[in-house]
Amino acid sequence: LHCPAPLSPGLLLALPAGAARHVQVLRLQPGDALTLFNGEGGEWAATVERMGRSEVEVRVDAHQAVEREAARAVHLALGMPANERMDWLVEKAAELGVASLQPLLAERSVLRLKGERAEKKQAHWQAVAVAACEQCGRNRVPPLHAPQDLLAWLRALPAAAGAGETRLLLSLRSGAAPLAQAVPAAGPVRFLSGPEGGLAPQEEEAALAQGFVPVSLGARTLRAETAPLAALAALTLAA
Ligand code: SAM
Repeated sequence: LHCPAPLSPGLLLALPAGAARHVQVLRLQPGDALTLFNGEGGEWAATVERMGRSEVEVRVDAHQAVEREAARAVHLALGMPANERMDWLVEKAAELGVASLQPLLAERSVLRLKGERAEKKQAHWQAVAVAACEQCGRNRVPPLHAPQDLLAWLRALPAAAGAGETRLLLSLRSGAAPLAQAVPAAGPVRFLSGPEGGLAPQEEEAALAQGFVPVSLGARTLRAETAPLAALAALTLAA
C-alpha cells in the first residue's frame, strides 16, 4: 500500500485515508501483515496494530530492498483521449512500467482541459496511478505531469542532442520505420503519440525538429490510448 511518509523500523503510524480504505476492503485484522511503499525505493513489511471505524494504525517492521521497475525507462507523452479512456490508459501504463506520463492538449484533441479542471484531472490520474501500483505491486509511482499544450511542451524539451534519450513519434505516415527497427538495444525512450484526430502538420513538424523519429506500429490505425500502450508494452516487456 502507498504511504507517502518517512518510514523506519518500529514506527507506529496511522495510514493515509486511501491506504486505510484499502485495508478495510481487504478485511485485514490486527496482527495481519501488509506491505507499504513510500516511493523512496524498496518496500516495508508492516503489521496492522489497531483498526477504528476509518482509521488504521500499523507498525512498520523491516525494509526490503526489492526493485520492481522495468529495465528500461519509457516515458509517454500523448494527446489525452477523452472520457474514461484516459483513466484506463493511466492504469495500464502504470502496470506496464511507464517511467512518466505527460498528457498533452493538441490542436485536434477532443478533451479541451485547462486551468482548474486540468489540475483536478491531474490529481485524479495520479490517484489512478497510485491505485494501479498498489494493485500490481509496483513500489514506485510514476509521475503524472500536469496537462500541457503540445507545442509549448515540445518547445520546453531540452535539445535532443545530449538529452540522453531516444525520441520516437508514433506515426501513421508512410515511411515511418517499424518500431523494432528504430529502438536501440538499451537506454531511455520517450514516445509521443497523437490524440483521436491525430497530430496537425505543424505539430508533427515541431516534433521532428525536437529529434522525434517517426515509427510505425503496423498498418492498422490504433486508438489514441492503444497506440502508446502497445509501444510501451513492446519495450518494457521485451527486456
Ligand atoms: N485519423 C488520425 C490520423 O490519421 O492521424 C488517427 C489518429 S490515431 C487514433 C491516434 C494516434 O495514435 C496517432 O496520432 C498516432 O500517434 C498513434 N497511432 C495509431 N495507430 C498507429 C500506428 N499503426 N502506428 C503508429 N502510430 C499509431
